[in-house]
Amino acid sequence: MSKLVAGNWKMFGNKAMIADIKKIDQYCKEKTCEVAICPPFPLISAAHEQTKNIKIGAQNCHININGAHTGEVSAEMLIEVGAQLILVGHSERRQDNYETNDIVKLKSEAVHRAGATAVVCIGETLEERTADKTLSVLQEQMLKSLPKNITPINTVVAYEPVWAIGTGLVPETDQIRSAHAFIRGFLASTYGAEAHSVKILYGGSVKGSNAKEIFSISNVNGALVGGASLKSDDFIEIIKAASNSI
Ligand code: PEP
Repeated sequence: MSKLVAGNWKMFGNKAMIADIKKIDQYCKEKTCEVAICPPFPLISAAHEQTKNIKIGAQNCHININGAHTGEVSAEMLIEVGAQLILVGHSERRQDNYETNDIVKLKSEAVHRAGATAVVCIGETLEERTADKTLSVLQEQMLKSLPKNITPINTVVAYEPVWAIGTGLVPETDQIRSAHAFIRGFLASTYGAEAHSVKILYGGSVKGSNAKEIFSISNVNGALVGGASLKSDDFIEIIKAASNSI
């Protein structure tokens, strides 16, 4: 299956950086993997208008279509301005905004209702890994935060060990392999044959220098990239590695 490289800009970026998105879009004319960038909400519309070859996404949405929810944005509103995928349950939102698995599930359902792809983020903390609880944490997160009817079109799962996000730490190859194999097994046993084609991304300190090795691990179908997605040249290195790994 073709790999997906998705950039999460978090709360970084400004209008001038639409030029970086255009540069990435130009590069992707020739690419053989899928590419997406999730900038902050105010940049989605301009990013969408300036791109042809990549997808634009969002980093969060509300569970409802509309209503008296000051400061919130619905999946439908995001799609209208050009978002095609929406991250849900990123560990920074689970931590900073107290998002539980139940909320993540409702948000994933909202993304499906609106017709976009939910990129559902899961991953263990360092404390959980040290206590040998990684697989049970992943199982609980998948059981509780994935909706019933997931397909390769409406859902991507992103495995992001919390301790690897923004730290420069990357798990051992075997640790990534075993987490991804576990996630693939869970998806197949819960959702059936179609789940074999649901993409499973790895996220956590992916860079141009480690992307090739990460993409060679079985069941790694792409990457969710934070810091390295903010510099177009760095992000292009990762896209290159994904394109070459197919
Ligand atoms: C992320 O924000 O999802 C992420 C993986 O960040 P970084 O690549 O900076 O570790």
